[in-house]
Formats: sequence, C-alpha cells, structure tokens
Amino acid sequence: MSRNVKYIVLHCTDTSPLASMEAIKRYWKEHNKWERPGYHYIIKSNGEVVKLLNENLVSNGVLGFNQQCINIAYIGGKTKEGKHADTRTPQQEDAMYELIMWIKERHPNAELKGHCEFPNQGGRTCPNFDVKEWQKNYIPSVVRENPDQEEDEE
Ligand SMILES: [Zn+2]
Repeated sequence: MSRNVKYIVLHCTDTSPLASMEAIKRYWKEHNKWERPGYHYIIKSNGEVVKLLNENLVSNGVLGFNQQCINIAYIGGKTKEGKHADTRTPQQEDAMYELIMWIKERHPNAELKGHCEFPNQGGRTCPNFDVKEWQKNYIPSVVRENPDQEEDEE
C-alpha cells in the first residue's frame, strides 16, 4: 500500500558537507527525539545515495506536511564559517537529479519543492538553493565538463 505522495522535497542537512551519517542520525535521535529519520534519502558528497526509510513510511522533513512528502537531503548546506550556502558537489547534484527522476517514475504527479517553500518552517532557507531554477538549468556534470562531446558525435 503506498501513500499519496504530493511533494518531493529537497533539503540540506544544515551541516558541514563533511558531516558523517552517524553524527546526523545521532542528532535526530538525541536532540530532536525523532524515532524515524528526517529524510527518506541522504546524498553524500561523493554522490552516494543512502536510503534511510521506506517511501511508504513518513519521515520528519517538513513540519505539518510529512504525510504527503518524500524527503531528500544532501549532506551540507553550511560553509566552514557556518554560513548557509549551496555546498553541493557536482556528484551530489547528479545523484539528486537522478534520484528525483527515479521517484517521479513512481509518483508522476508529485511536485518538486524546496523545504523553505512550505509555510511555517521557522524561517528556514533549506535547501539553500532555488529548486525551480536549478531544475530548469541543470546540466549533468559529464556534459558540463565535456561541452564539445555532443558535436563530436556527429
Ligand atoms: Zn529542510
């Protein structure tokens, strides 16, 4: 039985890009007292996707909307100086895009949104980039790094 997924929501973990999965999970458990993870998927800086929760179960990403959300986060969102920023690596961007496409196959009507686009989220800037702009302008890193490749194939 599957939930009615209305939103695919993007997050940052609001940590350094180098934060470990263990530290993030410990924070949820000990600080937030959550029994379930904050997100269904976490994307590490090397692009590895870690599934934390079955999509049919509800995670903790968006206060008041979680029943309808699949939550995805990249590890990062904070610079060394503690400032909010889009710290995604090219590998994280690629993995994020592919993960969204894969979820969309199963939930074609789900809308992609950033956490901060939902009301009453405590003034959060998460995921620290404009989701709609990113989705519109995204180019896979392999194409970005080899811009002539397509022409050469002719
Ligand atoms: Zn968030």
